[in-house]
Amino acid sequence: MKRSETPSVPNLIPDRPTLPAVRDAARDCQACDLYKLGTQTVFGEGAKRAELMLVGEQPGDQEDLAGHPFVGPAGKLLDKALAEAGIDRTKVYVTNVVKHFKWEPRGKRRIHKKPSASEISACRPWLDTEIQLVKPRAIVCLGATAAQALLGKQFKVTAQRGTFIASALAPLVMATVHPSSILRERDDEARHREQERFVDDLRNIARALSS
Ligand code: SF4
Repeated sequence: MKRSETPSVPNLIPDRPTLPAVRDAARDCQACDLYKLGTQTVFGEGAKRAELMLVGEQPGDQEDLAGHPFVGPAGKLLDKALAEAGIDRTKVYVTNVVKHFKWEPRGKRRIHKKPSASEISACRPWLDTEIQLVKPRAIVCLGATAAQALLGKQFKVTAQRGTFIASALAPLVMATVHPSSILRERDDEARHREQERFVDDLRNIARALSS
């Protein structure tokens, strides 16, 4: 492993990276202050040659405690939507642009706090390495933070969701909402409608991957 006085991510990435080695190196990452807030690094998981990579914002409360991405309520919604879209989650790689949970206290609860641009930038080389190693045919950004981190600050999920975007990241790149936003909808009817739209976006990706 390269050594440096600065704890930046590029200095932590092994010279001959593999997914297990990079995951291992990320465990001790202190490249931004979020390591002080999160319980542990929550690295991406899934098939090492996954055709589809899903990228969210950051681990949530349950992911932080479990040490695995997308295992909380949003992950369960994601599982259901992938199944409805005919996508086998065991053939998908799931990860986040930021690998530690950023939160603030509200009573006894830990409330999600959006990562800053500098935290996203500090963490980005982990994600870039995951993309280089997995080489997915398709990347789907889940939510505005992931979409803007990967597709540019001007990207608007509300206007551009579900459409394929030309990108050097992968042959097929798309953004849609984060499943946690569906859970925050005001009532069952709105949640159901948004979940249908989310599944439609995933079906688009499934179709493109199979053609
Ligand atoms: S959020 Fe990313 S860059 Fe910051 S400490 Fe965690 S793994 Fe390192």
